Amino acid sequence: MKHSPAPVGQAALRRANLSLVLRELRDHPSLSRAHIAEVTGLHRATVSNLMAELLERRLVREVGVEHVGAIGRPRRAVALYGEHVGALGMEINVDYIAVHGTDLSGRVLVERRVAYDAMGSGQDSAVRRLGLAAREAVEAMRRAGAVPAGIAVAVPGLVDVTRGTVTLAPNLYWHDVPLADQLSTMLGPLGAPVWVDNDANLSALAEYTSGVAAGTPYLVYLTGEVGVGGGIILGGELLRGADGYSGEVGHLQVDPNGDQCGCGRLGCWETKVGLAALVRAAMPEQAYGLPGMPVSDPDERVADIAKGLAAGDQRMARAVAQVGEWLGLGGSILANLFNPRVIVIGGYFASLAEWLLPHAQDQLRRLVVSAPIAQCRFVASTLGFGAASRGAANMVVNHIIDDPAMILDPPPGPALR
Ligand SMILES: [Zn+2]
Repeated sequence: MKHSPAPVGQAALRRANLSLVLRELRDHPSLSRAHIAEVTGLHRATVSNLMAELLERRLVREVGVEHVGAIGRPRRAVALYGEHVGALGMEINVDYIAVHGTDLSGRVLVERRVAYDAMGSGQDSAVRRLGLAAREAVEAMRRAGAVPAGIAVAVPGLVDVTRGTVTLAPNLYWHDVPLADQLSTMLGPLGAPVWVDNDANLSALAEYTSGVAAGTPYLVYLTGEVGVGGGIILGGELLRGADGYSGEVGHLQVDPNGDQCGCGRLGCWETKVGLAALVRAAMPEQAYGLPGMPVSDPDERVADIAKGLAAGDQRMARAVAQVGEWLGLGGSILANLFNPRVIVIGGYFASLAEWLLPHAQDQLRRLVVSAPIAQCRFVASTLGFGAASRGAANMVVNHIIDDPAMILDPPPGPALR
């Protein structure tokens, strides 16, 4: 997250400094004041002064003593706290809604996923259902003692992040949905600033922050859902492109004679590797979109396939091998383009990784243009279907830390020392 330059003025300068200190505390379990002064370049007196305000506002707490060297004086350390400050992350996808609410320090307060047929319900009903889930999550977080300071929603599609509008979500059949405004209206006085972003971008952020390849500065994340999106981290930063629409890898055309995609084009990558494609090949009797099929949680469909594979079902094995090869082919295009160290595969890809990855890795190695690029490894995410909602909560925390003014307006509670 980039920090925009603050306007000149004492208050703005103070907030910029608070932001600097909070960022260091976000990135470390605990730090002493002297250590913070060293890494931020701020004066010791300034840090002590800022720390007094952060303690007063319960955004940090004393956590004991840091010993530096054998003869160094013990120094009192502080850690990010803010258990009264909530960050609510949400995701709406084709067949579920997920919520992940944390406090400022990342402690999880609410986490759940409910099966929901967002594809079949239509835009208005789906937005209403999302609003209801947001309201329930806000109330649960308030009961846990945290008032959400911001809400971020992950959506599988193109998002105009500055306006909070979903431009196009092909698999939800959404066009130009002013989602941030609609959720704000629905939440009314329970609300908080709402951001909307692409699910793969937010999942990539969650992976970079706390996933299996955390801290890897060149990383591609692939959502493995009905749709397939990509979040691309280059040099530790999310690649957004000129209009914020980069990463639409599911719509790379890999087969001009292939099936029609949700976007209307033919042979997009997700028509080969999306969950609907796998289900159609592995268990056609349960294919998506069949009339009368009840909506089931993606985990259940995937668990059925895993069970079949473990039992040696040949049709399923062929289906998974084929999807694995297509995964490797698309992965090789991404590896040639971005030269990532890892491609983290999420969603159902992760659940079936042991069957998919041998095929995918072989294919990638065969198709990339040079040996260094071939070092790129597919790695299964451990964050599960919750990656995007977790990344959304991470993004809210980042927004708060970039602009602490968001949470400095309420009156401070009793100091905790
Ligand atoms: Zn497409």
